[in-house]
Amino acid sequence: MLKIESITKLQQHVRHLRRASKVIGFVPTMGAIHEGHCSLMRAGRAECDELIASIFVNPTQFCPGEDYAKYPRPLERDLAACEAEGVDTVFCPDADEMYPAGSATTVSVSGLTDGLCGAYRPGHFDGVTTIVAKLFNIVQPDIAYFGQKDAQQAAVIRRMVRDLIWPIKIVICPTIREPDGLAISSRNAYLTPEQRKQALSLYAALEYARRQIQAGRLKVADLTAEMRQRIEAAGPCSIDYIEIIDAHELIPKNTVQGRCLIALAVRIGKSRLIDNIEVDAGTSKS
Ligand code: AMP
Repeated sequence: MLKIESITKLQQHVRHLRRASKVIGFVPTMGAIHEGHCSLMRAGRAECDELIASIFVNPTQFCPGEDYAKYPRPLERDLAACEAEGVDTVFCPDADEMYPAGSATTVSVSGLTDGLCGAYRPGHFDGVTTIVAKLFNIVQPDIAYFGQKDAQQAAVIRRMVRDLIWPIKIVICPTIREPDGLAISSRNAYLTPEQRKQALSLYAALEYARRQIQAGRLKVADLTAEMRQRIEAAGPCSIDYIEIIDAHELIPKNTVQGRCLIALAVRIGKSRLIDNIEVDAGTSKS
């Protein structure tokens, strides 16, 4: 496995690959590699000639007061995990390489970034789209893999690629969960054992809403109020949002209809946890 830290070196490598007509798959990560990341790498490994992963804790997507400084950075373990998944090349630049002094350009997707996490993390999605745009320009992937766990991010990146007419196929892979249902996240590491148990209320509430919708209960205000009650009953937390929205446009709904996303963000202890599931109200038995 190649480990490349410089943009110029990776660009050279990519030039060779493109000349050889290799299909390039790309998995961008912030490291602290876990099963969720590995699932994206496996998907890429299965359909690409060259699999490139990036490990970069992107400063511009953290808001003031967030966990940028203490975000886990176990580089050696991460490299071993990438190698075990058959990654061909890992790109792990430092912050100055990606944002040299004088950087003044931001890539911004409007609308889709207004609600959900965008409303609670000002500037976060501009940071995400800017770094992903830079990475796409360097790596020039044919296919890039993202997780459904970050559903709003996935929708925003799809839109950016469509709007900027990049010839990149975006593949969204299912959320990988612990056996008890908790969505795997690097931020689960900040939870105490008690908070870890409490955090199960998030997936339980999502599943509760799904069952209710499938039983024909379609009033969003009722469903989200019941989810809120369930999550708050599990222990001390601060709920940023619980929403049921259109799965494509991320627009809030009063009544569940068609393909919807049930999405939430909840702070428990030092962790801000997000999770979501999709439900197709077309399949409900009303
Ligand atoms: P991150 O390192 O948190 O920026 O995540 C890198 C990629 O892994 C993103 O596309 C995430 O959506 C994806 N990812 C993170 N956690 C999971 C998970 N539990 N299941 C599937 N994909 C995930």
